[in-house]
Amino acid sequence: MSITTTAAVLRDPEAAYSIEEVTLADLGPTEVLVRLAGVGFCHTDVVARGMASYVLPAILGHEGAGTVEAVGADVDRVSVGDPVIMSFASCGACAQCAAAKPSYCALFTPLNMAARNLDGSATATDSEGGEIANRWFGQSSFAGRAVIDQRGLVLVPAGTDLTKVGPLGCGIQTGAGTVLRAMNVQPGQSIVVFGAGAVGLAAVMAARIAGASDIVAVDLHQSRLDLALELGATRTVLGSDRRLVDRITDDGAGLDFALDTTGVGSVMEAAIESVGPGGSVVLVAASEAALEFHPTQLTGKSLSYVLEGGADPQELIPYLLEQWREGRFPFDRLIATYPFRDIDQAEADARSGAAIKPVLVF
Ligand SMILES: [Zn+2]
Ligand SMILES: [Zn+2]
Repeated sequence: MSITTTAAVLRDPEAAYSIEEVTLADLGPTEVLVRLAGVGFCHTDVVARGMASYVLPAILGHEGAGTVEAVGADVDRVSVGDPVIMSFASCGACAQCAAAKPSYCALFTPLNMAARNLDGSATATDSEGGEIANRWFGQSSFAGRAVIDQRGLVLVPAGTDLTKVGPLGCGIQTGAGTVLRAMNVQPGQSIVVFGAGAVGLAAVMAARIAGASDIVAVDLHQSRLDLALELGATRTVLGSDRRLVDRITDDGAGLDFALDTTGVGSVMEAAIESVGPGGSVVLVAASEAALEFHPTQLTGKSLSYVLEGGADPQELIPYLLEQWREGRFPFDRLIATYPFRDIDQAEADARSGAAIKPVLVF
């Protein structure tokens, strides 16, 4: 049986997406065919055009949600008809995977960033028979149908609105997971979040869930700060403020946690300055910017780079869905939906900031 689907194919880093019919190979033993209901645009998809990690043509997209349409011979985690969220790929065999830390999988980079199988193969072809890379984050879900290894799937309750929940698979998980799992923020603690985009605002919502008493949002746009206040920030500071760190710390000793979602060198340095001894600074942006600081600026502090919130999607995503249903995690307020064919507009709006979290719907 050969499977065909409509996909948005990136053929040239400078060109618009090409909407094409593609053919997907038969499913491997642990692979699952998902019919997409919605797929988010993550920042990594936006900056992917400039990345050298994969070879074009490729299908991007890695925040898919949909329904299982077919399963390989050895699939035992999901069945046909199940509603699922598609998250990142991990090997399942290394020490980090065994410790339920799949975002630090030994094979994270080749499995997610190369857009190909580990042996270099791809399993999608265009109408001329040309190979198209289709393993971006293990899924390449800018398509009506996508193939993913069952390890990347999170089963969700029947009745979940699948046009909305795809972003839980990466961007929203990154922001919320960093606060709730990597940082493990406790009631009464303080945190500053730099950048009020999808990742930063998810972090703000998570900080409220965690019971943080001082939640400071920093962004260059007042409209984003206003939204942050509605979602749980207790204070905001404009990123252009000349006394930025003093305003964040309220001229005090420094906060417990700082999260940078911007990847901008000067902002990451402000994050380091914003925490006090005993505090933790976490960076999450896909950034090439170098950090420059004097070692003493880190006195008594910790600094780390966290991928995918340091979370296990099988544990975190069901928790976030429960918080959403109970009204404590309104991540869907960040979403703007676009028909799949308007992918170029969705990308433009993600780049310009006109949309916080574009989601393509089918
Ligand atoms: Zn692994
Ligand atoms: Zn992502």
